[in-house]
Amino acid sequence: MITAVFDTKPYDREALQSVPGSAGLEWRFLEFRLTKDTAPTARGAQAVCVFVNDQVDRPCLEALAAQGVKLVALRCTGFNNVDLAAAKELGLTVTRVPVYSPYAVAEHVLALLLTLNRKVHRAYNRVRELNFSINGLVGFDMRGKTAGIVGTGKIGRIVAEILRGFGMKVLAFDPVPNRDWAAEHGVEYVDSRTLAGASDVISLHVPLTPETKHLIRRETIELMKPGTILINVSRGALIDTTALIEALKLGKLGGVALDVYEEEEGIFFEDLSGQVLQDDELARLLTFPNVLITSHQAFLTREALGDIARTTVANLAALAAGQPFVEGSVLT
Ligand code: NAD
Repeated sequence: MITAVFDTKPYDREALQSVPGSAGLEWRFLEFRLTKDTAPTARGAQAVCVFVNDQVDRPCLEALAAQGVKLVALRCTGFNNVDLAAAKELGLTVTRVPVYSPYAVAEHVLALLLTLNRKVHRAYNRVRELNFSINGLVGFDMRGKTAGIVGTGKIGRIVAEILRGFGMKVLAFDPVPNRDWAAEHGVEYVDSRTLAGASDVISLHVPLTPETKHLIRRETIELMKPGTILINVSRGALIDTTALIEALKLGKLGGVALDVYEEEEGIFFEDLSGQVLQDDELARLLTFPNVLITSHQAFLTREALGDIARTTVANLAALAAGQPFVEGSVLT
């Protein structure tokens, strides 16, 4: 059975091919993203394997279904880039990786937060230039400060627990609160406005849906204390970038760490060094000394890649053998 793997990076190829049981599968590794225009390159494949920035919209799904593809296997958790209603109508199965090391993503939040707070990104550059001045690098003790966790699913809960370990007070907001967990870890659920106004650090851990799009916009930023640090490792469109830039220019925010960006498609994951960056908002964000951007790498640990590859291969093998898919992974 042939699987067309779109947006393949060297680490995807290595992880997928090293799963025991993957030897029986035939891979067609493609470096470009899946769109309606590139869908014909899946011809002859029974499955396509896609990632976060492939555009799996209705025209793309129609093209895949027309050439006999049966399965769209997402090698990620979020599925906001797939038109599930269209897939269902077309009789295509869509699977995702429901769980992979949430520690990978949660620990990246800490990497970003500590870097931003203690200005390690600036210190690193200074010392390389033999500038040993520490002026302007003042941070704050995390102990005793308040963190607000928006979304206490798998990742948000781990971030909260780690921050409790730093001696922070942790507030949380989630429409489906997990009260037993909160009691066990000394986390307090509050409404979203209280969280916005009381937190020194706010970290977003919600899926991108029509309801959560621009969860952080001008009105929500206005509720925040001056100097708040905002972290987004979930999905770029949770934040209204224009409003974020406006707040940064006014000096309202203490710092912003982003592993995801609203318009990241076609930019993140690519080596564009030597080219002219065409995205003016991203270019502006990169000029702020208190903005730290990584290129959607929160998931990038050996453990997470192994988990992702094992679930993906298990679902492909299940399709080939006519067996049930991995529990919890089927979206349509
Ligand atoms: P999860 O499904 O376990 O948890 C999501 C939580 O968000 C749930 O508890 C849900 O009730 C809550 N929620 C939904 N709408 C909300 C709202 N409006 N306000 C507050 N809470 C709300 O998901 P997870 O595994 O913790 O992952 C969270 C997100 O992280 C994913 O949806 C994905 O977009 C992102 N992610 C990013 C990376 C990366 O590499 N940067 C990797 C994995 C996941």
